Amino acid sequence: MKKQTILFAAHCILNTASKVVMYDDAEMAAEEALRRRFVHAALDAGVQIIQLPCPEFTLYGARRWGHTADQFDNPFFRAHCRALLSPALIQAREYIQHPERFSVLGFLGVDGSPSCGVKYSCEGAWGGNLSGRQDLSETIASAKLVSGRGTFFRVLEDMLLEEALSLPLEGLFAPEPERAMGLIPGAGRPNPSLP
Ligand code: SF4
Repeated sequence: MKKQTILFAAHCILNTASKVVMYDDAEMAAEEALRRRFVHAALDAGVQIIQLPCPEFTLYGARRWGHTADQFDNPFFRAHCRALLSPALIQAREYIQHPERFSVLGFLGVDGSPSCGVKYSCEGAWGGNLSGRQDLSETIASAKLVSGRGTFFRVLEDMLLEEALSLPLEGLFAPEPERAMGLIPGAGRPNPSLP
């Protein structure tokens, strides 16, 4: 029997309607091109994709502001992430318990996201009321891409450790397409989790 390969993916890999409204057309187009390339390649390779819930949409809805990881680094948001991730980890454990039938490729996040960033997140000292601020432009401009995980994937990493599950985490990031594509057997570098 041929093994089924399974990948857990950030919600917006399959549903971009969940994303915060973006205004950088070039950045959006580059990410969308890689997302489409990735999803097509994954389906062509027979990869089964399990969609994680979006931690931001399920807390703040469709009209949320963009945030930085600093703002999400609080116990309430982490508890929300934990509650959302728990069912996914139970699923992962069940698939892993049947290695003769399934191979779990890992988790795919979205780099640059304050929630789902894997190699890169977004930091900045944002917060507080917008009206009446004299330094609004400087505050907005202070957000920057930084190395490190977003809060959702940081919580995921903690939970994987607690469960003693070792699975690759990788991020979709247009300037480094090989990282996401490498999760798909045959579409990039070989995946070390495969036999
Ligand atoms: S929080 Fe994660 S799943 Fe939700 S839109 Fe952002 S990157 Fe996508």
